[in-house]
Amino acid sequence: DHRDLHSFPTRRSSDLIVLLGAPGSGKGTQAKKLMSERNISHISTGDMLRLAVSSGTKLGMQAKNIMETGQLVPDDIMAGIIRERLSEDDIKNDFVLDGFPRTENQALDLEKLLIEIKQPLDFAILMDVDSDVLLKRLTGRRTCSLTGKLLNIYFSPQLELDACLNAGGELLQREDDNEATISSRLNVYHDQTEPLIEFYCSRNLLKTLDADGEVQDIYTRLLATLGYV
Ligand code: AMP
Repeated sequence: DHRDLHSFPTRRSSDLIVLLGAPGSGKGTQAKKLMSERNISHISTGDMLRLAVSSGTKLGMQAKNIMETGQLVPDDIMAGIIRERLSEDDIKNDFVLDGFPRTENQALDLEKLLIEIKQPLDFAILMDVDSDVLLKRLTGRRTCSLTGKLLNIYFSPQLELDACLNAGGELLQREDDNEATISSRLNVYHDQTEPLIEFYCSRNLLKTLDADGEVQDIYTRLLATLGYV
């Protein structure tokens, strides 16, 4: 009926994607590529929280300890963060959510929010990786202090690791990439986030991506999964 058409105008031709997957499954790496190569906004709640911690905001002070122990920041705080982020100017077209939602409550909050902004979710992509690969990705993960480039001491080409060091940079490790926190993050993923696979499957939005192998190969498969190539 006409009224319905008025209250829900035609959706914009844009893509909204959720990246789902364990810590270390490569969500951030792939989301950053989608941003640099396809101009798709990258929304990483982990990056936003790390920024809040390093700049010492109230949110940062609330989140610091929780993140250091690998637990989850409470859902009501996350709902506020994501609501604010989605109202910002750069969120006009496509965007990819990396690290949100992480609980069923967050997924329900997201659903409500997307109805409000009249932009339905297109896909939830499950980045599927074996657990032994996950561990190497997490324990080996480093960031170049100069360029912010994500690297891995086990998987990155030696040339790229050397390039950072030769330029006078340092290979920094994330605070929560230590063994104790990693195992707690994997448990939290299993208990609280994995149920979202079923959640998105039941809504016919889930696509599973083989996220093992080289970054570029995974990216090629991701583009195909999204229907971009
Ligand atoms: P990430 O960079 O996505 O691995 O996130 C790092 C940490 O930030 C997580 O271990 C959580 O402590 C916190 N965090 C990030 N996103 C969320 C979220 N959606 N809900 C709760 N906590 C989060």
